[in-house]
Amino acid sequence: DQIRPLVAQHIREVRDFPKKGINFRDIMPLFADPVLVNELCIAIADHIRNSIGHIDAIAALEARGFLFGPQVAIHLGVRFVPIRKKGKLPGQTLQASYIKEYGEDIVEIQHDALKSGDKVFLIDDLLATGGTLRAAIDLIAKSGATVSQAFVLIKLAPLKGREKFPEVDLVSLISYD
Ligand code: 5GP
Repeated sequence: DQIRPLVAQHIREVRDFPKKGINFRDIMPLFADPVLVNELCIAIADHIRNSIGHIDAIAALEARGFLFGPQVAIHLGVRFVPIRKKGKLPGQTLQASYIKEYGEDIVEIQHDALKSGDKVFLIDDLLATGGTLRAAIDLIAKSGATVSQAFVLIKLAPLKGREKFPEVDLVSLISYD
């Protein structure tokens, strides 16, 4: 709770990126303050310990979810499981697709990264339309595991992404209207 305003101060609004009319929320200024990033990752780990309890793995999404997921996993001493765009992970994978503004995108998880019954905490930087997290949740379900909770740094509330995965608990640090 104390960390929320500190993190919010480090989110930069970039107008018309990546194209006209889009208000991009740039999280990279956070990484100019390594002490704050570390405190944030410890706060996420403490939140998991105190309000969820046991989890088997942290899963996060390429690319910006990877800035936080492994750090939180290390603090908790649990596995980190990457979810990546199609074609990036070697070996056998499971796939889930989602609709983006232009066409379809596919994300993948290694088929043996999770096992049946695993409890997973899912991390990404930002929730917009919810397609990305929906696909990640589908992948984790295909692995036989369950998402204990999903976490985003930022929720863009007007895009109603939350409605795409009503069955999963979501926590967001900062919400923009
Ligand atoms: P969604 O699938 O919810 O529409 O989009 C969320 C995904 O797009 C996230 O993985 C996130 O990294 C990326 N994304 C979309 N808009 C933004 C933004 O304004 N800032 C950042 N940092 N990421 C964004």
